[in-house]
Amino acid sequence: MKRVFFCMIMLVLLLASAAAEERPPMIALTFDDGPSEYTKEMLELLAENDCRATFFMIGQYVEMMPEMPQIVVDSGCEVGTHTLAHRPLNELSEYKIYSDLDKCINQIEELTGEHIRWLRPPWGKVSAGTYVACRRLDLLIVKWSLDSKDWESRDAEKIMQQILENVKDGDVILCHDTYPETLEAMRIVLPELKARGYELVTVSELFSHFEGELKSTTFYYRLN
Ligand SMILES: [Zn+2]
Repeated sequence: MKRVFFCMIMLVLLLASAAAEERPPMIALTFDDGPSEYTKEMLELLAENDCRATFFMIGQYVEMMPEMPQIVVDSGCEVGTHTLAHRPLNELSEYKIYSDLDKCINQIEELTGEHIRWLRPPWGKVSAGTYVACRRLDLLIVKWSLDSKDWESRDAEKIMQQILENVKDGDVILCHDTYPETLEAMRIVLPELKARGYELVTVSELFSHFEGELKSTTFYYRLN
């Protein structure tokens, strides 16, 4: 009888520790099309609010601001690739996709020493050749589940509403670090999301909670 009682206590303790390990609500903010003159300020704002994000950079802009990938990494954020020149991948040959992504990855990896894990395809457009290239380069593809539409509205108030009215746990949010209006919106959005209990993490951190194996032969747009 004593032994049964002991086992039951152990079971309760085990279940309690499993519950304690359950993840908090999480969101991955992503910023495409940089680096730009607004990237540094965005990083400062993220740090002030104890938030992290992923920056999907365009190779030709990295060439113009080669210090930016390391600054992003140093601030605890993540760098992903958004291709060399923002051409739609579904219009390129398999060879061109491979050589484009290969160049981007090497460029950023040489600057930071960090392995690039994620591709955000321009306009979210992919093709069979994209999957082949990603498998060869050990890249994962991430689209988004919530579009801030900052590229469309260019209005801080609307960007704020679009995010705060639609956000859910596990979302990947598409934004751009190329507009001052996005930066302005984030001054409200970041503290508000934190106040709602969300943790703002990188794409890699969000998908570390993915159930199952992540594969280059598909794309991801939100957690589960
Ligand atoms: Zn883009």
